[in-house]
Amino acid sequence: MREIKALLIDLDGVIYNDSERIPGSDKAIRWLQKRKIPFRFITNTTMKSRATLQKKLADFGIKVPESSIFSAAHAAAEYIRRSGKHNCHLLLTDDAKQDYSGLNTNSDKPNWVVAGDLGDNMTFNKLNTAFQKLFAGAEMIALQKNRYWMSDRGITLDAGAFVALLEFASGKNSILIGKPSKTFYETVLNDLGFPPEDVAMIGDDIESDIKGAEASGINTVLVKTGKFRPQDLQRKDVSPWKLLDSISEIHKLF
Ligand SMILES: [Mg+2]
Repeated sequence: MREIKALLIDLDGVIYNDSERIPGSDKAIRWLQKRKIPFRFITNTTMKSRATLQKKLADFGIKVPESSIFSAAHAAAEYIRRSGKHNCHLLLTDDAKQDYSGLNTNSDKPNWVVAGDLGDNMTFNKLNTAFQKLFAGAEMIALQKNRYWMSDRGITLDAGAFVALLEFASGKNSILIGKPSKTFYETVLNDLGFPPEDVAMIGDDIESDIKGAEASGINTVLVKTGKFRPQDLQRKDVSPWKLLDSISEIHKLF
């Protein structure tokens, strides 16, 4: 019997689907808070700043400090700060750009192109400008490489599709920041203060959440919400430790 002492929890597809709360997710988080079970949210969301994510959770009845939310957009800004090369070009929403304060985001000769998802505001011109910066020598930071996500309009292109486009055109590989990057998981585990064997990752993405966490030695819990599809269970290369109908069954992990 494994004893889980702390949790990593994905947001989109686990707590909510885009703008709709997944039934019982607020109660599940309050259940954890009441028992003082430590957790961090870990999300590949590229369109929202940490402050906006915190507010969105609060609107759903989930009150957490901003510091408990680890997003790919925020982690990339930290990566750039640590690199000492602060010139960047952001292929990001205005909201996500808030996480990049103090960096030079209007450089003509950027060190980095940060590639995320702009939803309906992604245009040929923006992609082409990013491509031109890469061609002129910038390195690409991919916030994540998810192929798709479950938005209000159904299955929808995610940032990974645009990263692949830019990698193909520029002939350059990108640096991956979000899940399933080992560094991203290690950063969050460090912050939690528990070794991977004491922690479980709850997610709806068989690749980024389950395969990614498994590779970092973390216990994995797949939920049948969000982008989950029955075919995910037939994969030979990855098998979740536990399967839950939704996060509302969180008590079954303890
Ligand atoms: Mg998800």
